[in-house]
Amino acid sequence: MAPVTVITGGSRGIGAATARRLAHTGHHIALGYRRDHAAADTVLADLHATGVRAVAVPADTRDPDQVTALFDTAAELGPITGLVNNAGITSPIGPFTDLDPDDLRRVVDVNLIGYILCAQQAARRMTDGAAIVNISSVAATLGSPGEYVHYAAVKAATDALTIGLAKELAPHGIRVNAVAPGIIRTDIHALSGQPDRPDHAASRIPLGRPGEPDEVAAAIAWLLNPDASYTTGAVLRVGGGL
Ligand code: NAP
Repeated sequence: MAPVTVITGGSRGIGAATARRLAHTGHHIALGYRRDHAAADTVLADLHATGVRAVAVPADTRDPDQVTALFDTAAELGPITGLVNNAGITSPIGPFTDLDPDDLRRVVDVNLIGYILCAQQAARRMTDGAAIVNISSVAATLGSPGEYVHYAAVKAATDALTIGLAKELAPHGIRVNAVAPGIIRTDIHALSGQPDRPDHAASRIPLGRPGEPDEVAAAIAWLLNPDASYTTGAVLRVGGGL
């Protein structure tokens, strides 16, 4: 039976690249997003063009009812075999002392509470052979000083979530891993106020350039694949050496 994979934040960036790559290898896809219907429809058309079944579901991952609805819709494609916990945000880049409490709460709500709500739905529904990939960040170990320390702290929580869930779900045959991207060329940087951040950062990246979304998608696809059958609890850095 074809794999059925839920991807949150699938309308743009890393999530969209992952959806396209997985569709090419025969995954049926449930694509979650928050508000950009046009972007989600564009990705959905590309998925359908590969011949797989796919749905795009507006679902704010902060809301337990919307998360449940996303997974209910996904289950109509078949038994859910994969989750890519990807929907994430940053907040305006700047010094820690300027951090606005509302921005802090949004980052925690989307990047931590949202991931946990989605992982819980997945864990309740998945069976032997399924896999979860949480999208973390190299920020979890680098700390993002002067940019967004709070975001880095939440990404470190993602790594802890990955390790704990991997151990708790292993007896059920469900693997849980994380991918920690470095600086990847997506809209997230414009949303944090520095659209040119990937190019400006190139000189401090050992490989000398930012990454592309599909280079992260490749790692996610491997972790979902039975080729990674003995890999669980891993945090795989895809950061060009960062
Ligand atoms: P992006 O291009 O800004 O895309 C974010 C996606 O998440 C969009 O599809 C967006 O949908 C969705 N989203 C945002 N808030 C949501 C919510 N509350 N509920 C549901 N969906 C929501 O971001 P990206 O760069 O691809 O980032 C994806 C993941 O990689 C994030 O977890 C991020 O922290 C992580 N990451 C990125 C980088 C990087 O350099 N790009 C580096 C390390 C880690 P709408 O457009 O509809 O709002």
